Amino acid sequence: MELDSLYQEVILDHYKHPAHKGLNPIFSAQVHHVNTSCGDEITLNIELVGQRINSITWDGQGCSISQASVSMMSDLLIGKRLEEADVIVKSFSELMASKGTSAGDPEILEDAVAFAGVSKFPGRVKCALLGWMAFKDAAIQAQTNE
Ligand code: ZN
Repeated sequence: MELDSLYQEVILDHYKHPAHKGLNPIFSAQVHHVNTSCGDEITLNIELVGQRINSITWDGQGCSISQASVSMMSDLLIGKRLEEADVIVKSFSELMASKGTSAGDPEILEDAVAFAGVSKFPGRVKCALLGWMAFKDAAIQAQTNE
């Protein structure tokens, strides 16, 4: 596998300077997800205020794709309403299922279109999706807890 083609600068930048890393003790739900095929781990806290995502914080370890993806996702989703977040998560999931045939919608995904190339590598798709699946799970739990 040509790693260089996967690692766009924006991905490396998020890996080196992760956004919203470090768990906020105030949260509506906390989840822990692992990607056993690569050894990636993420703990994610979500705090809802009504239907709005007030904070997403996380901690984790693993490959640069998994860590950069959750960092970028946090940037994208904080401050959004849950219904807006659903659209973004769905769009990213579709991009990851595209097997390299989609470039992603930059109006919805912003910088996260940098992961488009990852969809060509089935082994890495799970890395990129780990944080997003954790968010989905946390959002459901947070609404159940209310
Ligand atoms: Zn990984």
